[in-house]
Amino acid sequence: MPSLIHTLQKIVNKVDHAPDIQHALDIIVDSLITALNADISSIFINYEDAEDNLVLMANRGFHEGVIGQVKLKTGNGVVGTVAAKAEPVRLDNALEHKNYVHFEGSGEEAYPIFMGVPIISQREVLGVLVVQRAEQSFNNDDEAFLTTLATQLANAITHAQHSGTMAKLQTDDSASVSCTLKGVAGAPGITMGQAVVISHGITLHSVPDKKIAGDDEIKQQLERFGHAVQQVRDTLHEQAERMQQVLPAEEAALFIAYAQMLEAGSLLDDTHSRIEQGDWAPTAWRKTIDEHCDIFASMDDEYLAQRSDDIRDLGRRVLQILMSSQDEVRVYPHQFILVGEEIAASDMAEVPLEGLKAIISEHGSSSSHVAILAHALGIPAVMGVNQLPYTQMEGLTVVVDGYTGEAYVDPKQALLSELLNSIQQEEQIVDSLKVLKNKPAVTTDGYRVSLYVNSGLMSDHTPSLRSGAEGVGLYRTEIPFQIRESFPNEEEQYHIYRNVLETFSGMPVVLRTLDVGGDKPLSYFPIKEDNPFLGWRGIRITLDHPDIFITQVRAMMRANAGIDNLHILLPMISGVQELEDALILIHRAKDEVQEELEQPLRFPRVGAMIEVPSSIYQIDDICRLVDFISIGTNDLTQYLLAVDRNNEAVADLFSALHPSVLRAMEDIVAGANRQNTPVSVCGELAGDPMGAMALMGMGIESLSMSAGSLLRVKKVIRSFSHAELFEFFAETKAMNDAQDVRDFYVEQLDERGLGGLIRAGN
Ligand code: PEP
Ligand code: MG
Repeated sequence: MPSLIHTLQKIVNKVDHAPDIQHALDIIVDSLITALNADISSIFINYEDAEDNLVLMANRGFHEGVIGQVKLKTGNGVVGTVAAKAEPVRLDNALEHKNYVHFEGSGEEAYPIFMGVPIISQREVLGVLVVQRAEQSFNNDDEAFLTTLATQLANAITHAQHSGTMAKLQTDDSASVSCTLKGVAGAPGITMGQAVVISHGITLHSVPDKKIAGDDEIKQQLERFGHAVQQVRDTLHEQAERMQQVLPAEEAALFIAYAQMLEAGSLLDDTHSRIEQGDWAPTAWRKTIDEHCDIFASMDDEYLAQRSDDIRDLGRRVLQILMSSQDEVRVYPHQFILVGEEIAASDMAEVPLEGLKAIISEHGSSSSHVAILAHALGIPAVMGVNQLPYTQMEGLTVVVDGYTGEAYVDPKQALLSELLNSIQQEEQIVDSLKVLKNKPAVTTDGYRVSLYVNSGLMSDHTPSLRSGAEGVGLYRTEIPFQIRESFPNEEEQYHIYRNVLETFSGMPVVLRTLDVGGDKPLSYFPIKEDNPFLGWRGIRITLDHPDIFITQVRAMMRANAGIDNLHILLPMISGVQELEDALILIHRAKDEVQEELEQPLRFPRVGAMIEVPSSIYQIDDICRLVDFISIGTNDLTQYLLAVDRNNEAVADLFSALHPSVLRAMEDIVAGANRQNTPVSVCGELAGDPMGAMALMGMGIESLSMSAGSLLRVKKVIRSFSHAELFEFFAETKAMNDAQDVRDFYVEQLDERGLGGLIRAGN
């Protein structure tokens, strides 16, 4: 049905460019009348908390005055039946359906032929899309059409829910921007600050909205806009001239037409008046472009409808110049929260860390490296906020709850005081943990565990030392590589490693060799792969580039001279062969350095990360070749459960407490015990109070975690006996599901009054 597909594309395109959700809903109900030859079309939205939760929010065909008035419960009426079944329903006479409820005053009884489809996102019914006719049944093609449209609508509704505009449809509280964002818990803690939006590669869609006030600012924005327009106009004239030599006249004329649109007319006038009314130039321009695109896109004439693409193109050109002229020095608020579509490690390196209070990112999950960095800094992170409305958040007050994965944007007074209460309780807990710094991590029955820190972010090791760590259990060397513009040479690396080894002299320091690839790119060493986590990563890269590997290991060995606390850890070992190859290179580096220094060097302790499932089945052979192993629960979980650690869409499925992951780890520990090889854990699970309980229950004695987690974990260890932890583990291993394991440990923590370690408040 080619014409339906074409119609569908047109509707989707219009919905995509709708300025807000109400326009999107209206566009859909309008289009359905013609596309499906319907007499009535309606959209019901599911406001879950309301008593009659399904509310009619857009309609064509009913009598006036029904919007917001027609309401029913899931399960009631034919519409409620669609929502309850979460399936399409087609009826030739809805009036005869057992659940039929008449909408008084709507006039619908004249149109008994009914088709309704649920609007679903992530298993949740967000609403119901309905069409009705007086005659002629709906067929399979109609149903396919409506179902496809419902999936598009689901995106628009999710976006509106996250930006708070869905709630506003009901309350008509258009001045408020308050909303609650739901993502996944990235790093624990609860805090408050002002949003600072980070945008890479601005598009018309991602322009951050800002308000301006006062004649000076208005004048400045008008001038900025004027310069950008002038510049684009000049470029267009130049391009027109060049194109006249290679294109037919009518094609080249397009450039002149573009330039003319920037000489006078509504594009300019509308933008000027928006600036005068208080929008900064980029927002004013975006709104104007959207409005003009809408007008063209809604035209039936194919040629004219496509002109909306030209306007958008023009919009992009002017915007690019506008934004590049906006590179003023950024002033950061005293306490701020980085918000963006994708926050990179390098973004964190560029901001004043003393004011950075939290992170909110549209993409990523709890084991993304940015979340791990937040953990290392001891600040909360909320990741994977689907359709994060970051363009509207600049400067707003935001409370970030890194325990639940929620963020409250501009919370209203009552909610704010509740949140401030939780923030205060959190500060009390953090304060009360400080006394544990110099106390040992020992269970109530005297079983001693060693706690180390994961590091790599900064050369400043104060947070690690302040946490009372007994050494560094994982130094991610790729981080200093990531924040540079080219590979650091041996001398630069020597200084970085010497600094860590010296700071922790007398304590073990585990330096991991370069683990780039996956979600840890190096800007100066681009790797293009369809499947980066299954691709050229970690040890695979360094074995293919012995030059990089040997330089790094030489720098480590030189840095270790006279200190002797270096442990080298090899990432992503998938089998014995890789390990043997790496060991040959490490021996070569040692011989070279020894000869140059003209003094005997002790061969450092070398360990393998166990994070690729295949290594579990060679665990005895691997242990025979190394001095220690370290379990990387982040990658081990990702590879065992086949869940991308970075993909927010499957973040719910990523759990290192999954019984299968626990059993795999138990096998690793058993293999290491057979070979008398020490085992530690350096993945995020080690720093999760519940994870630490499980790991100790399987006999692990060494845990390495972010500095921010260390005292919480110590508190847990000092609150239980080793015997109890063993019993807990035996019980959880037999469970079916990660959530059951989690619930079980939450219960144990709550019983000891330790709930505040894993959630905001007590
Ligand atoms: C892990 O995979 O658990 C780990 C510690 O390494 P990274 O998170 O750096 O991949
Ligand atoms: Mg890893």
